[in-house]
Amino acid sequence: MTAPNKFDAIVVGAGPSGNACAYTMAKAGLKVLQIERGEYPGSKNVQGAILYADALERIIPDFREDAPLERHIVEQRMWMLDENSFVGTHFRSDDYNKPPYNRYTIIRAQFDKWFSSKVREAGALLICETTVKHLILDGDQVVGVQCDREAGDVYADVVVLADGVNSTLARKAGFHGDIQAGNVALAVKEILFMPEETIQARFNIGAEEGVVIEMMGKITDGMLGTGFLYTNKDSLTIGVGCMLSDFKSNPNKTSPYVLLEQMKRHPSIAPLIAGGEMKEYCAHLIPEGGFYAVPKVHGNGWMIAGDSGGFVNAAHREGSNLAMTTGRLAAETIIEAKAAGRPMTEATLKAYRARLDESFVMKDLHKYRDMPAVLHKNPQFFTTYPDLLARAAKTMITVDNVDKKTKQREVFRSFRQTRSLTGLVGDAFKLWRAFR
Ligand code: FAD
Repeated sequence: MTAPNKFDAIVVGAGPSGNACAYTMAKAGLKVLQIERGEYPGSKNVQGAILYADALERIIPDFREDAPLERHIVEQRMWMLDENSFVGTHFRSDDYNKPPYNRYTIIRAQFDKWFSSKVREAGALLICETTVKHLILDGDQVVGVQCDREAGDVYADVVVLADGVNSTLARKAGFHGDIQAGNVALAVKEILFMPEETIQARFNIGAEEGVVIEMMGKITDGMLGTGFLYTNKDSLTIGVGCMLSDFKSNPNKTSPYVLLEQMKRHPSIAPLIAGGEMKEYCAHLIPEGGFYAVPKVHGNGWMIAGDSGGFVNAAHREGSNLAMTTGRLAAETIIEAKAAGRPMTEATLKAYRARLDESFVMKDLHKYRDMPAVLHKNPQFFTTYPDLLARAAKTMITVDNVDKKTKQREVFRSFRQTRSLTGLVGDAFKLWRAFR
C-alpha cells in the first residue's frame, strides 16, 4: 500500500506536455500528482496557437467532441516581406475541409483548462498555485519534490519535469545547463478581437475555416526570426519572435514590442488587422536550439518532457505537438516499467530516449539539425533575399515600356550584384544542407 503523500508519478507543469503525460498515466490507473504554479492550467501559457490534431488524437481520440477549438486550417500562407510588399506562396486545399481536420487554431488559456479537466476526470490529482522549488534526492535518485505553500514535500517513484522552457528545476538539479541566448527565441503576440464575419471576408474563408500566415523578412529588422498571423473564431493572433541573442546584439536595439508594432503597420498586414481590439499581449521564450540543444532527458527517478527538453522543431513551429508527444512517450515508458515491476532508475528510463529516437520527434530534430546554425550564420536569408525577391517580382510584374528579356537581365544583375555568383551558389548549398 502506498503512503498518502507517495505517488507513482509526479508531473511538474500543466502545459501540453504535462497534461499529456499526467492524462496517459492516470488513464492507465497510476496514482498521479500534477503540480502547476499558475492560478489554473493555461494561466501562465502563451501560444499562437495552432493545435496539431494527430498528437492529441493519440491521447484523447474523441477530443473533437468537446475541446474548445476555434477554426480548422484550410490554407497556409508563407510570406517573405520587404519594406512595403511581400512575395508568397499560398496552399489551400479542400481536403483540409473534410473531417477529421488536421490542424486547428486554439486559445491556449481555454484549451489548457479543458485538457486539465480531462486529466482530472482520468483520476490525477492537480494542485495549482503551487511552485515546485526543489527535487528531493536520495543519493542520486530523485524521490520527490519540495513545494512552496502547504503541499510541502511529496514523494513519487518518478518525477516528470514538464515545466516549460525555463525549467529552473532541471537547471538547479544540474540536469542541463543555463539557457543560452543563441538557443531560444523571444516571441511576443497579441490577440486582436473583431467580428467573425470581418475575419471571414478578409481571409476569404467560411464559418469554421481558418488561415495561417507565416512570415519572414524585413519584419524582424535583420534578426533571425519569423512572424505569424492566425485566424481564430472572433479574433486574430499576431506575433513575432527572434533569437534572444539577436535582440541583445541588434544595433537598432529594437525591442520585441516595437518589432510587433512595426510589423502591424506593414502595408500587407495592416489591412488584415485593421479595427482589431487588443485584448491580450504576452511575451514568452521558445526553445530553438534544435537537435544539438536537447539535453539528457532521463536519469534516476526523473524525466524531462516538452519545452523543458528543448523539443521544438525549428522548421515547423510545432512546439505543442512535440510537447504532447514527448509527454505521452514519457508516460508510456513509466506505465511499461511499472507493469514490469522495474525500479525507476536511469537504466529503466532510458527506454524513453529509445521511444523518442523512434518517433518523429527526434527524427525531425535530427533531419533539421544544421538549420539553426545555418540560418543564424546567414542573416541574408532574412534580409537580402526578401528584398531581392520582392524587387524581382515587381520588375517582372510591372507593365511598362521595357521588354521582358531586359527585365530578366536586370533581375539577374541585381541578384549577382548583391550576392555575387559564388554567394548565390553558396547560399543554395547552405539551404540544401539545412533542409536536406
Ligand atoms: P508550457 O506550455 O510552458 O507549460 C509549462 C507549465 O509548467 C506552465 O504552466 C508553468 O506555469 C508550469 N511550471 C513551470 N515551472 C513550474 C514549477 N517550478 N512548479 C510548478 N509549475 C511550474 N506551438 C505550437 O504547437 N503551435 C503554435 O502555434 C505555437 N505558437 C507559439 C507562439 C508563441 C508566441 C510561443 C511563445 C510559443 C508557441 N508555440 C507553439 C510553442 C508552444 O507554446 C510550446 O512548445 C508549448 O507550450 C510547450 O508545452 P510545455 O507543456 O512543454 O510547456
